Amino acid sequence: MGIIVFSGWGFPAHRHVVDVAIAWLPPSIQPFYKSHRNWLIDHALDADIRKHSVPEEGIRHYLDVDAYLEPNQPCSAVFPMEWEDALARFGLDTLNAHGIGPWHAYRTYRKLVFAHIERDSALVLRHSIDLAHYLADLHVPLHTTANYNGQFTNQRGIHALWETQIPEAFQDGFALQPRKNQLKCAYIDDVKHHIWERTLESYAESHSVFECEFQVRDGWGTEPIDAYIQRGRTRQLMRTPEFVNAYHQALNGQVEQQMVKSIQSVSACWYSAWIDAGQPPLPSPPIPNKPIWKKTLDWLLQ
Ligand SMILES: [Zn+2]
Repeated sequence: MGIIVFSGWGFPAHRHVVDVAIAWLPPSIQPFYKSHRNWLIDHALDADIRKHSVPEEGIRHYLDVDAYLEPNQPCSAVFPMEWEDALARFGLDTLNAHGIGPWHAYRTYRKLVFAHIERDSALVLRHSIDLAHYLADLHVPLHTTANYNGQFTNQRGIHALWETQIPEAFQDGFALQPRKNQLKCAYIDDVKHHIWERTLESYAESHSVFECEFQVRDGWGTEPIDAYIQRGRTRQLMRTPEFVNAYHQALNGQVEQQMVKSIQSVSACWYSAWIDAGQPPLPSPPIPNKPIWKKTLDWLLQ
C-alpha cells in the first residue's frame, strides 16, 4: 500500500466498532470503558490523523501479505510473528515497504498491558483506542493485500466501496450488539497468535472481495457502475448505490462478518491486556450528579 489515502474502516465504522466493543466487555472492566465512551469514540480515528504528522504511522495500518508469498505457499510458513525474527529474515526496508500492521498491533497491545501495570488511566485509554484502530484495520481484507484499491486488477474504487459505502448503507441492519445473556468476550491467552490468525483470515477473505466485484460487473449491463456522489462538501466518483447494493448481496454478509470479528477482537484484547497486567483496579467512574427530582424520589423511597 504505497500512498496513504485510506482509513481502514470508514470513519463512522471505526467509531461504531469502538462503541459496540464496549458493550461486549465483561463487568470487571466495562464500567471504566463505559465512563470514557465519548472520549474513546472521539479518538477512534487518531491513528489515521497521525499519518499527517508522523511519517512512520502509515505503515502501521496494513500488511501486504501477498507481497511475500510464492504461488501456493501457505501464509503461515512465511511470517515470523516476532518482530525481531521478521527483521532478521526480511530486513527493515522490506518490512516497511509492505506494512507492519500485525507486529505493530501487538506492540500496542504490550503498551496497553504496561499502562495497566503502571495504573496510568490516560495511557490505558490512549493505547486502548490505538489498539482498537489497528485491530479493526487488520480485519479489512483490503488492508492485507498490495492490490488495496484494485489498482492491479482494474477495480479502482473497491476500497471505499467495501469499507465505507457498504457500512454506510447497511451497518444499521448488522447484528453487532451482544444478545441478552450472551457470553461476553473471553480471555485470549496468546494475543500475538490471535492478531496473526485474524490478519491471515482477512487475507483469505480478500479473494472474494475481488471476485464478487468482477461477478457483479459481469452481470451489470450497460449502466455505469460509478457516479459522482455528494459527500460532505465534495463530490466524489464512487460506485452507484445500485452497484453497492448488488455487491453487498454478492459478498453474502462478508462486511458484517468482518465487522463482528473486529468488535469481538477489540473487546477481547482490551480484556486480555487487563488480565495479563494482573487485573489492577481501574478508577471508578465518577458518580453522575442526580437531578433534584431523582434525589427526592430516592429519599421518599428510602
Ligand atoms: Zn487506519
